[in-house]
Amino acid sequence: MAVIMHVDMDSFFASVEQRDRPELRGKPVIVGGQRESKRGVVSTCSYEARKYGVHSAMPIAQAVRLCPHGIFIPGDHRKYEEVSRSIRKIIHEFSPVVESISIDEAFLDMTGCEHLYHSLEHMGQSIKRRIYDAVALTASVGIGPNKFIAKLASDFHKPDGLTIIAPEEVEDWLAPMAVDKIWGIGEKTAKVLASWQIRTIADLRRWPQEFLTQRLGKQGESLYLLARGIDNRAVEPETEAKSMGKETTFAEDVTDIGKLRQTLANLVAIVGIRLRQKDLWARTISIKLRYGDFTTISRSLSLPEPINSDDGIFQVAEALLRENLEDLPVRLIGIYVSQLTAFGQGSLFTDPRKETLTELMDELNTRYDRPVISKGRQLALPKAPHKGKEPT
Ligand SMILES: [Mg+2]
Repeated sequence: MAVIMHVDMDSFFASVEQRDRPELRGKPVIVGGQRESKRGVVSTCSYEARKYGVHSAMPIAQAVRLCPHGIFIPGDHRKYEEVSRSIRKIIHEFSPVVESISIDEAFLDMTGCEHLYHSLEHMGQSIKRRIYDAVALTASVGIGPNKFIAKLASDFHKPDGLTIIAPEEVEDWLAPMAVDKIWGIGEKTAKVLASWQIRTIADLRRWPQEFLTQRLGKQGESLYLLARGIDNRAVEPETEAKSMGKETTFAEDVTDIGKLRQTLANLVAIVGIRLRQKDLWARTISIKLRYGDFTTISRSLSLPEPINSDDGIFQVAEALLRENLEDLPVRLIGIYVSQLTAFGQGSLFTDPRKETLTELMDELNTRYDRPVISKGRQLALPKAPHKGKEPT
């Protein structure tokens, strides 16, 4: 019988902020944007904020209405990624078969590793303790015979929970749960099911497979199985990242090409440092533009040799911007790198002095968890002096 473990950090970004800034502990912390942010959405919020009905993916403006005294933080993704990397390292000590499903969640296939522990309880406590000792953050852990059960279990006693569901307990444990607890059941499907008086997983079990398949197609078939706790999906160990990118939505649509160029330079700096931290080179550089009317384009260029310096990436990205900017204003700009390879030819094709400078910049920018050195192109241009009327 398979043993699958799901590890999920508790309100990850908000917990990192509360860990590093004691004055935020016990307070409703909402990460995702400034209070004034017009387009931001909540990416994580502390448990104190959840009491007010705030949840992730909610527009910041709505969170402000629900929780006016909340503490709104734009968030420091470089720091969260750093913490996530430390956690991932620990997770990999527990199993060779790990599937990361987001920055703060992973499945581990523990099948065959059980004998290393006194019990499944001991196994779950061990990973929670190792994570806490390393990063001073709590995780909730679920252990079950498959991914579906493990993920539901980690969610069962949050925060700082450990829930173990033995195969013979699965059916009874699932029975009273609301159907929208099932992966992939959104509001829409939940409504359809409710119209057939299906509200809990036990309700769902009363319907024959043909009925569900006829009405819901392939999803009906998987619902039939999941309702019985059957899930044959394997934990898929991660493959090398296939692409990397960063985009930003402006608070106000941008009509100034200088501002676009500067933003692009900043995005390139973020993606560049990520590439180099992973020792990867990219052969294809893409930019993405979304205009004020929401039309979105992306344009790519593939190079004969992979690159990973900010200068190289920026040069290509800027050329793509200049050639393909069809319209103004711009609402969103993004940069993506793909066709990644671990075998760069960097040193053969770039000036070694530039390489040293890049390394030094990366070192300082990483050490201080925030960019301390930027290139000129990343800085805002001074406003053009106001021109008076030329004397005639
Ligand atoms: Mg989480």
